[in-house]
Amino acid sequence: MDTSFAPEDLAFRDEVRAFFAQAYDVELQARLNNLETFKDAVIEWQKRLYKQGWIAPGWPKEYGGTGWNATQKFIYETERSTAGIRDVIPFGLNMVGPVIYAFGNDEQKARFLPGILQSDDWWCQGYSEPGAGSDLASLKTRAVLEGDEYVVTGAKIWTSYAQYADWIFCLVRTNSEGKKQSGISFLLIDMKSPGIKVNPIVSIDNHHSLNEVEFNEVRVPVANLIGEQDKGWTYAKALLAHERTAIAGVADSKRSLAETRAFAAREINGGKPLLSDPLFQKRLSDIEIELMALEFTELRVLATVASGGAPGAESSMLKIKGTEMQQAVQELRMDVAAYYQGVLPNDLTPEQLGHDFGSQARQTYMYGRASTIYGGSNEVQKNIIAKAVLGL
Ligand SMILES: Cc1cc2nc3c(=O)[nH]c(=O)nc-3n(C[C@H](O)[C@H](O)[C@H](O)COP(=O)(O)OP(=O)(O)OC[C@H]3O[C@@H](n4cnc5c(N)ncnc54)[C@H](O)[C@@H]3O)c2cc1C
Repeated sequence: MDTSFAPEDLAFRDEVRAFFAQAYDVELQARLNNLETFKDAVIEWQKRLYKQGWIAPGWPKEYGGTGWNATQKFIYETERSTAGIRDVIPFGLNMVGPVIYAFGNDEQKARFLPGILQSDDWWCQGYSEPGAGSDLASLKTRAVLEGDEYVVTGAKIWTSYAQYADWIFCLVRTNSEGKKQSGISFLLIDMKSPGIKVNPIVSIDNHHSLNEVEFNEVRVPVANLIGEQDKGWTYAKALLAHERTAIAGVADSKRSLAETRAFAAREINGGKPLLSDPLFQKRLSDIEIELMALEFTELRVLATVASGGAPGAESSMLKIKGTEMQQAVQELRMDVAAYYQGVLPNDLTPEQLGHDFGSQARQTYMYGRASTIYGGSNEVQKNIIAKAVLGL
């Protein structure tokens, strides 16, 4: 694979870099870091990307994508993470959007895609249920057809950002006979519908992003069914492959590792910077090497997708290794912070200032435990690889 950049790629990189430097301003960053202003700031940032025409690099051009080739997408992603810019909220843009343009009808495309691209609608993902996580096809939330409406009853759990959402895309059971995968349908549900209740779940990082969503005889127009009734599993699986590829987060791990290296250069251990410790250097280098290898694997998957292919078992491989690397970087950063990871930023004495990355290290580490679970746990991804690659 040729990995050197052509002059036009370098010009593109400069264009992306200049846009980020100007558009991702300090005031916006402060609002993104404040829980009270987070939602509005995310929407504003995504609207800036939309105005620039860069909101959906993964979408086909006819639906609002950028038309970039694999190299341009790679450059964009690298520049985004290097600049410390958070990725877009995935539920609309990376998950339900692609399902709608691939499997939805013309009316659904016209009705929902603009709201996703312009971030006017905040989406959440209603797949998991209390008894259906890894074994997703066991889901029980049922939708019964009554005239031109489905009546939905049941509960979803771990629904990220449901408290902000205008819409939820849901897997529901429309048929209990035969194979459990074959009686599932894919419904788009307005979160303002009567009968929906959102119950917060506060996670180990002390933040509220997770929820339980209850459905009590919620009426959903048949027009909100994607594709055919009972065929939702096919659409759901297509979405999961994209989700897993995105979860790998290689560029973000690279940036986080570079930051950790800088912190280690500042931390004094036994009279010397921690970075000069041979054992620390070995740990850092091991992660760097593995990340580099993973980056090339990701590039290969991106090249397959760019040439019209769909990510298959490779996306499971990327998910496993990508999340393991995220956790390795998070653990290293916790060790660099040492006991400062237990100190809240406001509690630092003037002498301790400069260690304020400690509380952020702790929070990222805590939430980071989830990455090997969500998007399909890593154990389950290993089963997928065993079946698809080893034929077991
Ligand atoms: C932070 C976070 C955000 C999430 N956001 C969303 C969201 O927005 N929308 C949504 O729908 N879901 C979401 N989820 C749910 C997530 O997809 C599930 O947690 C995940 O699929 C695992 O299901 P479970 O929690 O029911 O665990 P279980 O399926 O009960 O698994 C428990 C353990 O058993 C292991 N295991 C299970 N089956 C097998 C097997 N066959 N072979 C080997 N090991 C196995 C698992 O690996 C795991 O370690 C989120 C989860 C988290 C943690």
